[in-house]
Amino acid sequence: MKLQNKVLIVTGLAVILFLFFSYFNVIRDSFISMSVLTIFIFATLVFLTYAFIINRIEKLNKQLDNITSATQTSKKEIVIEGSDEFSHISNKINLFLDNQRSSINLLDKKIDGLEKEVEDAKQELLNANIELKQKIAEHSTVDKSFTDHRENITKIQRHDILTELPNRILFNEALNKTISHAKRHNKIAAVLIINLDAFRDINTAMGRATGDFVLKRISKRFTKALRAEDMLARLEGDEFIVLLNDIEQAKFASVVAEKLLAACSKPIKEFFVTASIGISIYPNDGESLEDLLNNADMALYKAKSSGGNSYQFYTEQMHIEASEYLQLGAALREAIENEELTLYFQPKLHIKTGTIIGAEALIRWIHPELGIITPAKFIPVAEETGLIMQLGEWALRKACKTNKTWQDEGYEHLTVAVNISPKQFYHPEIATIITNVLNESGLNPQYLELEINEATVMDDIDKAMAALDRIKATGVQISIDHFGTGYTSISHLKRFPVSAVKIDQSFIKGVPNNPNDTAITNAFIALAHNLGIEVVAEGVETSEQMQYLSIQNCDVIQGYFISHPLPAQKIVQQFKKLMDRVLLG
Ligand code: C2E
Ligand code: MG
Repeated sequence: MKLQNKVLIVTGLAVILFLFFSYFNVIRDSFISMSVLTIFIFATLVFLTYAFIINRIEKLNKQLDNITSATQTSKKEIVIEGSDEFSHISNKINLFLDNQRSSINLLDKKIDGLEKEVEDAKQELLNANIELKQKIAEHSTVDKSFTDHRENITKIQRHDILTELPNRILFNEALNKTISHAKRHNKIAAVLIINLDAFRDINTAMGRATGDFVLKRISKRFTKALRAEDMLARLEGDEFIVLLNDIEQAKFASVVAEKLLAACSKPIKEFFVTASIGISIYPNDGESLEDLLNNADMALYKAKSSGGNSYQFYTEQMHIEASEYLQLGAALREAIENEELTLYFQPKLHIKTGTIIGAEALIRWIHPELGIITPAKFIPVAEETGLIMQLGEWALRKACKTNKTWQDEGYEHLTVAVNISPKQFYHPEIATIITNVLNESGLNPQYLELEINEATVMDDIDKAMAALDRIKATGVQISIDHFGTGYTSISHLKRFPVSAVKIDQSFIKGVPNNPNDTAITNAFIALAHNLGIEVVAEGVETSEQMQYLSIQNCDVIQGYFISHPLPAQKIVQQFKKLMDRVLLG
């Protein structure tokens, strides 16, 4: 039972008791009645006050319980009873709780949103991580193939592709190491530069594939001839180099050189390959890489110029000769400026008609102290120093002018022939130079003939064809000089826009007594005639040779038998004399 009801019941009973007592006591004893009434009223007041306060306290407790439970669970509301101030407070609290809840809801939503974002970010991070791992994997594959490539490149950079031998780079590294080692331990080392003789001929005559085959085979033979600790490298083309470490004595290098020459002795396919070797010794011939290589090169040059198929050790004398060569270059430069150069002319005689059809211009250097220097001495220097362009143009100009003078003097149909060096031949401006020179001199192009060495045109047929066409377009005549020495194939000769071939004097020398030379000469004449090309025999020194060549229908002869090369002023007097002598002879 509720406290309120208890209070009401007790209050009701008190009123009945009061009325009962009042009824009996008012009469009997008003004092006692008054006392009992007073006590009763007092007790009732105490009780009502107590009941009222208790009731309020209980309600307060309950509300507090509601509040506590509402605040603790956050979802529940405070139960509101009545409409007193507690209810009012509860309302406020409910309102507050509502706000709280909606704030919490909002926060919950935000947290949900944030959690989703975090989840998304996590996923993204995961994806990025996977991607990164893939990239790292890809990268390491790329890195590996890059490393492989780099190793390959380094290998290629240090090795010759054709023979797989070390190349110049690797050789130089090895030589530098050898020099340092030899320096520290007082050792001797040797450098041998090997160059194959006449390899170019095989290459040009038989094609690059055959040339490559020969190079590969010879490199294998050289490798076999050497010890494992020696190094064989290919420098370029037909040039190889050997490094001998720690040799007891310098002369040991000659044993190796002989072995290398012997390695060439057996033919490769049908080709007999020989080699020339230049040797320099550390420390005697040089203590640096440059000196050792230069001096071995100088020795090689010497071995080559003394006929090939041999080896040469470097000597001081070679150095002197080389510096003389350099000095010659400087002197030649001055000679051009001082006009010490002149042209000699050697006539060409047409056998059938006995007429001089022209003359070849041959350059001479009239040195104030040394006298006449022949072109064999200074043309190679001019080629190497680049002076040949200047020198060649000068010869061309001088020859054209001279021929114009002869023509003006009555020798109207003479042709002047000028030798053209490889550098001039392949010069992109050669046609312009020729045209300018012709225009300057006033000579008709058909009376200028350019002699081009067979070896020059055989170097690179397509390039040569282009150059020949360029030159031919100027209207001049072209002849192939030293014909027979460069293995021109018939198919090439057929395509060349040339009017004559000059059979090399090495074949004419054997005519008519040497059967080989005679057979070759006859074959050349027949071949050229079949292609409609005129034949000139050079180096004719005897009447016997002339008679034979005449019988073989050779068209033109040139040589000491007709005339030595002479200065321009003398040659004109010779023309008539020569013709008379030949016709009479
Ligand atoms: P080449 O064009 O073969 O000239 C022929 C060479 O043979 C000339 O030598 C000539 O004097 C020589 N000779 C002529 N007839 C006979 C003979 O019956 N017997 C012998 N043993 N030799 C004879 P040279 O004048 O010393 O010229 C040598 C080479 O120098 C020429 O050979 C030519 O290639 C080159 N040369 C000469 N002048 C010039 C030039 O102006 N420019 C260029 N680039 N080269 C030139
Ligand atoms: Mg010539």
